Amino acid sequence: LIKWVIPGLVERTQHLISILTNFSAPLPVLERFCQLTADRLRITSASLHLEFIDPAAFLDKALAYRDLRARHNPHSSFVVNSVLVPGRIAQQRPLKEALEAHGMRFFPQLMKVKGGVYPYDDRDAALILDLTGGSVNPREVNRAPSYRGLHCEAGAWYMTVDQNGDAWTCRTAKRFADTADPDDAASLGNLANGTFALRTNGGPCGYDICPCTVPANRGIVRLTNKTPEDHNGF
Ligand code: SF4
Repeated sequence: LIKWVIPGLVERTQHLISILTNFSAPLPVLERFCQLTADRLRITSASLHLEFIDPAAFLDKALAYRDLRARHNPHSSFVVNSVLVPGRIAQQRPLKEALEAHGMRFFPQLMKVKGGVYPYDDRDAALILDLTGGSVNPREVNRAPSYRGLHCEAGAWYMTVDQNGDAWTCRTAKRFADTADPDDAASLGNLANGTFALRTNGGPCGYDICPCTVPANRGIVRLTNKTPEDHNGF
């Protein structure tokens, strides 16, 4: 990423860059990333995995990264994405409060399994309610909503690309697509073999789950006043 992808994006395109990272890179690599992306960097979404990192170490790294961005990418923003892993939800509250006390955003996400939401027990459900304040605002918490029927510009203004260059209208579409069929409706072709083409327009969402927050938070999905019942029953 640091050696080829970021330099290529910065030197050969005019794209702005937002990134989702597991935040495992050491600080010198993060500093190089900040230097390379400079004024192109917009949003850094750092995933919190308390099964792999101590909360205090994560907070220290987030603060160090904030200082790097202040120096190299002052127009960028930072958010901590935290998957609500069953049995580990109580640990998140103090870290959330510490991050927010330092002016950083904390964004909890329900855990997904097999195209749906993990069946949390009553104790975890109560902790999630406490952590999220019961919010169903997609900019505050990812409840893996269903946007079926809403207009979505996936495929025209949003797409997902895998490591082979195969492009798809969105992550859910890829999950449910017949990946062996190049004519599958969710396929946008391949960026390496010349078959790639964006759609000219979006259309109604045909899926019961939208696991990624990006389409909703970047205006790709035309949101309406959704009810909690739309959030996969959770
Ligand atoms: S709303 Fe989400 S799941 Fe539906 S088409 Fe758009 S990106 Fe895909």
